Amino acid sequence: MTNLLEPANDHLRAWLAERGMPGFRFAQIRHWLFAGRARGFEDMTNLPKALREALAAEFQLWTSRVVAHKVTDDGTEKLLVQWSDGQQIECVLLLDGGRRTICISTQVGCAMGCVFCASGLEGVTRNLTAGEILEQMLLLDRLLPEGERLSHIVVMGMGEPLANVDALLPALHEASSPTGLAISARRITISTVGLPPAIHRLAEANCRYNLAVSLHAADDDLRNQLVKVNKNIGLDEILRAADHYFEASGRRLTFEYVLLAGLNDGPDHARRLVTLLRGRTALLNVIPYNPVTGLPYRTPSATAVNRFLEIVRSGGINVFVRERKGDKIDAACGQLRRGALEVLPLATEPAAGC
Ligand code: SAH
Repeated sequence: MTNLLEPANDHLRAWLAERGMPGFRFAQIRHWLFAGRARGFEDMTNLPKALREALAAEFQLWTSRVVAHKVTDDGTEKLLVQWSDGQQIECVLLLDGGRRTICISTQVGCAMGCVFCASGLEGVTRNLTAGEILEQMLLLDRLLPEGERLSHIVVMGMGEPLANVDALLPALHEASSPTGLAISARRITISTVGLPPAIHRLAEANCRYNLAVSLHAADDDLRNQLVKVNKNIGLDEILRAADHYFEASGRRLTFEYVLLAGLNDGPDHARRLVTLLRGRTALLNVIPYNPVTGLPYRTPSATAVNRFLEIVRSGGINVFVRERKGDKIDAACGQLRRGALEVLPLATEPAAGC
């Protein structure tokens, strides 16, 4: 079976042409996928029945199985998705006022070595394909009630998106295309540990997504401890690449800083961060650590968080604390999968509609 969602796969267009189908059939199928929320070819009711059957025999729309689906009071929904090779990833739908934001994964596991993060504890197993990245978006889209649309995408799930640019860009292209999910590039954010060659590539590709760089430390000594991959890169090169992206895209940069009690949350750390970021057109997102079972890291006290914020704010930095939506369902990266690996019995039936 051919995977219908692999964007690099022009098979559908060719397949329709071979059968002498008019060009508008291709557009109709895309419309059903991205706007019509079809769950299968049988839903594509303006296609002739014989064509629907032939499509179903040739193409596979879903390659995954939803093995867990958690929902919280605030409306956050999280899916644990299993691919045909048995590998699992997570993706999340967050409701925030009128916003309908999804958080998607790009790899099974992660190789970046952030010591506090659940996603990378077992290293990286494989990259997701473009179709698998896109499939997450469509699964989450189908959780929304009729009349609501996805408004934002954050690539902040499992994995390092810029270690899988070849799959990420075609998937985001479909997300932002007017005949795809039609989510404007300015509402799509790629979060990266900071891989300079890939950041330069994004700048050259002129794709205009928002870039969020995960700093977690303002000097290389500390960052080498917290983010292992930093040893081979260093903050200088990362900031140079981020500045280049800002110049090329015109998009205000975001820097992320996970606050870990006793490690990077002191007044000195805050002052060093001010020195590092001062003068940049940037936002700083401070994220109090969301504890991961089995890891020794802790969330700072409210006093420590406020003291940190006060220093960066009075240093002229535009700072926000990221709300910890979805904590109750382990919405921080890799936590649901890790939970599932250890405790959750896996469902044997696909969740309804997937
Ligand atoms: N690899 C990308 C995406 C990671 S997830 C990156 O490094 O940016 C998005 C953000 O969540 C990153 O800043 C990551 O460091 C942070 N994060 C990971 N685990 C966390 C946890 N347990 N609590 C709070 N933030 C966490």
